[in-house]
Amino acid sequence: MTDSVHAPFSTLADNPEVAAVRRKVRQVLAEHTSPERLADHDEEEKYDAELYRELANAGLIRLETELHGRGPAHQSQVTVLEELGAGATSVGVSIVVQYMGVELLHRFADDPQRASYLAPLLDGDVRMSFALSEPEGGTDVARAMSTRARREEDGTWVIDGRKKWIGGASTADFLIVLARTAEIERSSIDGITMFIVPRSTPGITTTPIDTMGIRALEQADIVFDNVRVPADLVLGEEHRGFRQVLATLNGERLNGAAVALGIARGALETAVEYAGRREAFGRPVGAFQALQHELVDAAVAVESARLLLHNAARTSDEAEGGAVETLSAMAKLAASRAGTVTTDIGMRVMGGWGFLRQLPMQRYFRDARLYTFAPLTDEMIRNYIGEKHLGLPRSY
Ligand SMILES: Cc1cc2nc3c(=O)[nH]c(=O)nc-3n(C[C@H](O)[C@H](O)[C@H](O)COP(=O)(O)OP(=O)(O)OC[C@H]3O[C@@H](n4cnc5c(N)ncnc54)[C@H](O)[C@@H]3O)c2cc1C
Repeated sequence: MTDSVHAPFSTLADNPEVAAVRRKVRQVLAEHTSPERLADHDEEEKYDAELYRELANAGLIRLETELHGRGPAHQSQVTVLEELGAGATSVGVSIVVQYMGVELLHRFADDPQRASYLAPLLDGDVRMSFALSEPEGGTDVARAMSTRARREEDGTWVIDGRKKWIGGASTADFLIVLARTAEIERSSIDGITMFIVPRSTPGITTTPIDTMGIRALEQADIVFDNVRVPADLVLGEEHRGFRQVLATLNGERLNGAAVALGIARGALETAVEYAGRREAFGRPVGAFQALQHELVDAAVAVESARLLLHNAARTSDEAEGGAVETLSAMAKLAASRAGTVTTDIGMRVMGGWGFLRQLPMQRYFRDARLYTFAPLTDEMIRNYIGEKHLGLPRSY
């Protein structure tokens, strides 16, 4: 890894703040990971908690907090996540969730909640999971939500229900959980409340799910059976929890895009390096125009995604909220495409060697699928851009 202020194959020079963040992440990665370690964690389906700790010690969860009261600057977050996406992808995915937790707590927690949950999260002393999706619905989750919380006379809330696909839930210290608290019209997104729930609360069971990608971060099904949560662990306003989550979706889109960009970049670097040294018919395979053109198309997809992403992140940092959602949606779509295009050509350039579990290309290929549907599917992102950017009628 070089100490340049450019990402590899990038025309975009980092500004001094971004360059400092990029250098810091690279330094931690150089000291605490290796290709073998990354492959082993994926193979053994083991989260690299030690790497997470080192990243937190280097201040990369906290970053420079308190930008417009929302938490760390988006430009810093996407830089951390691009670097992690290019190798330690599963740790990057878990940090997307931590950054979301930081933003939710920054915006909506009261002082005691900040002291108990936000402060240790920023220091890396605890990790959280975000529990929204359910077995019956991810995209249309508000309508499908059957997890319910009812209030008892003393103010305690009691949660019952199921969540699905929750990243890191088995080992998290606390969960941010959305549950239906009022039976409002099914078409409304109100009537849902956000709760902070310590993972050790009795009545919570997690079961690991066997997924094809992001294998070094466990995903879990969660059952809530009579889980009692004190009134002071409601996060934000009662019945307005889903709206509060939607308010932070811009950051999650940017951050998902950043990991996807990192995956694409890692695959591109690996493919170009391989194409330069693998020989056929007396020439490096990278000399064949058939492969070279596809690698060029992948490089253009990666650079387009990077330019959109950094523009969206900078605009989001300067905008104090508001009219940046379309840019972020475009960045997410471009990055998700860069991930799938680049890993596809990467697999072809490497022939049978792409299939080998100890080499990273197949891992990039599997991992790149995540951000085609999370946190929002590419179809829903297209719906959003069609409606908001092109002014077309809402399609659903
Ligand atoms: C590895 C992994 C980690 C995850 N981590 C988390 C997590 O930490 N927390 C969490 O809460 N969730 C998490 N998720 C869930 C993820 O956010 C959902 O999978 C995602 O929102 C999609 O929901 P779904 O899978 O139910 O697909 P569905 O909603 O069932 O969609 C199925 C298909 O229908 C399409 N579709 C639906 N509506 C429309 C429409 N109006 N127009 C066009 N197409 C449409 C979708 O685009 C998709 O192609 C994770 C999932 C995975 C696999």
